Amino acid sequence: MKVTVLHAGYCTCPEHIAIRGGAWTHIRFPAMFALIEHPRHGAMLFDTGYSYRFFDATKKFPYNLYRHATPVTLKEEDLAINQLSTFDLRPKDISRIFISHFHADHIAALNDFDRARYIHLPHAYDNVRFTRGLGAVRRAYLPSLIPSGFDSRAAPVDMTRPLNLPPEYAPFTRGYDLLGDESLLAVELPGHAYGQMGLFVRDESQTYFFVADAAWQGRSIRENRPPHPIANLLFPDPKAYRETLSTLHQFHQLHPSVRVIPSHCEETLSSIQDPEGVKRL
Ligand SMILES: [Zn+2]
Repeated sequence: MKVTVLHAGYCTCPEHIAIRGGAWTHIRFPAMFALIEHPRHGAMLFDTGYSYRFFDATKKFPYNLYRHATPVTLKEEDLAINQLSTFDLRPKDISRIFISHFHADHIAALNDFDRARYIHLPHAYDNVRFTRGLGAVRRAYLPSLIPSGFDSRAAPVDMTRPLNLPPEYAPFTRGYDLLGDESLLAVELPGHAYGQMGLFVRDESQTYFFVADAAWQGRSIRENRPPHPIANLLFPDPKAYRETLSTLHQFHQLHPSVRVIPSHCEETLSSIQDPEGVKRL
């Protein structure tokens, strides 16, 4: 098993919105995705980051409101398909994409992988699939990013068969074994979006815990420090968001060696992608 943490493009946001007590300056929100190479199941992705389809999908009202709210920077070489080619992987080599949730910055490149199965928690998609217009924008969902054959290739997680997690995952007690070999364990991270899915992945040297947008900054988890209260307007369940953040904080304290990776934390991603600190995003 090999795990590579990547990102495709970024948007910007004032730091004090992303984390309470942060600066008034804008910070970058890289759109993280990960390549997971499994000895039997081949190459798979966790999320996809941005693609140019994001710009097509946000040309017209009301979807353009999304683009104005989060101005995106994306270069050709950032695209998931182009980065994967440097690993000698073609789009058809991706067997599965694990979708943390259906916000556009996590699913914008789904259409590039037309052989992948889409793995997600069932209520994550049920909550958005029939929304259009402002109702969709309010959920940070852009319907045109969903590939036409999505339903036939989607494989929602069977939540009727949870796994009791061992103490190394405490305080998480219930997970879902996504491949049947316990190499990828999903947990629910409620609050930020309906059915948000976090993923534990272990490679030879390290356990990774992809927590998507359950926190925007690694420091939020370390210090149990939530975003600015105004961010609650974006969350379907602010109380659950706060509880999830506290759970992640406890997890980090109990298991400091696990790399907990929020999808949009530049500090966290840089420390993994560029431990020498030579190159910035
Ligand atoms: Zn999100």
